[in-house]
Amino acid sequence: MAEVIFDGIYKRYPNGVEAVRDFDLEIADGEFLVIVGPSGCGKSTALRMVAGLEEISGGRLFIGGQLVNDVLPRDRDVAMVFQNYALYPHMTVYNNMAFGLKMRKVHKKEIDRRVKEAAEMLDISELLDRKPKTLSGGQRQRVAMGRALVREPKVFLMDEPLSNLDTKLRAQMRAEIAKLHQRLSTTFIYVTHDQVEAMTLGSRIVVMQDGIIQQIDSPINLYNKPANIFVAGFIGSPPMNFLESCALPWLDLPEHVILGIRPENIALNPPNSANSVNAQIEHVELLGAETFLHLNLAGNVIIARAEAGIGHKMGDELTIGIDPQKIIQFDKSSGKALEIEGVRP
Ligand code: ADP
Repeated sequence: MAEVIFDGIYKRYPNGVEAVRDFDLEIADGEFLVIVGPSGCGKSTALRMVAGLEEISGGRLFIGGQLVNDVLPRDRDVAMVFQNYALYPHMTVYNNMAFGLKMRKVHKKEIDRRVKEAAEMLDISELLDRKPKTLSGGQRQRVAMGRALVREPKVFLMDEPLSNLDTKLRAQMRAEIAKLHQRLSTTFIYVTHDQVEAMTLGSRIVVMQDGIIQQIDSPINLYNKPANIFVAGFIGSPPMNFLESCALPWLDLPEHVILGIRPENIALNPPNSANSVNAQIEHVELLGAETFLHLNLAGNVIIARAEAGIGHKMGDELTIGIDPQKIIQFDKSSGKALEIEGVRP
């Protein structure tokens, strides 16, 4: 077990791309930290620097109190799980899991103990004699995790480990990874582009854009108190709606303000007509348990979350009410959230 500290970490690739800049982050021992952001934002690069797979261009990286900038990957006591499982096709599951330990000259009995324990934890004990080609994608991913698990590392690094699985299996594996973390209490650093994965797994989440950290916070704070428009739009599905301040004239706000409104904070045909405006339904998405309405509000399209079964139709006119307390205000030029006394809790 170990804490991981990024102190002013910087990565410039030989081609000049600055993939990670000014990266400061302290990950506590045993924490489940998720790094999330769109493709190309630098999250894999950040993780690979912890693994020792990318050279660090600037700053200092500590694992368990030790400065590791120049420590070889195999001496860092970390284990990484990749998106493509990269199993050895000619080896059995058992040997795939045992291979790294054999290379490290771990005693045979100890290898056997670790492989069997990990197999049990991952529910793959029945598969130990099989070759990878006879396994499903989900089973292969478990073997890849087993291979990391047997190393008994101080830190687990996971780079989009579930991206190759279908939606249902992904949800199941998410739950299992969370359980695994609880059981092991080891530090996990998990990289994903999927905000749902980030929100459901992370005890803290780092949101990145263009190599720069935008916000480090708990899932609930990222959702309720995004630091800027980028984070506000990235976290949440359907995404937050953004409107020019003039779209809601009763608010009487200055022009440099952008309003952020979550789809669930739009009241449809509210009994009280204060704080309401007229809108027209442009499109209806029926999802079973709920419905998303795409509404035209004075030329802006916004999405509202509605109860299922109300029978809203395309073309219907309705009034919408928006509680001013639930509106997040952003500065138009910087994109930063405005701290407003009494409005944001
Ligand atoms: P992410 O994991 O968020 O998709 P990456 O860390 O893989 O992003 O990449 C960040 C940026 O660095 C991208 O612009 C990418 O093109 C660039 N990059 C990644 N690897 C290399 C490399 N080996 N050489 C040059 N540029 C790279």
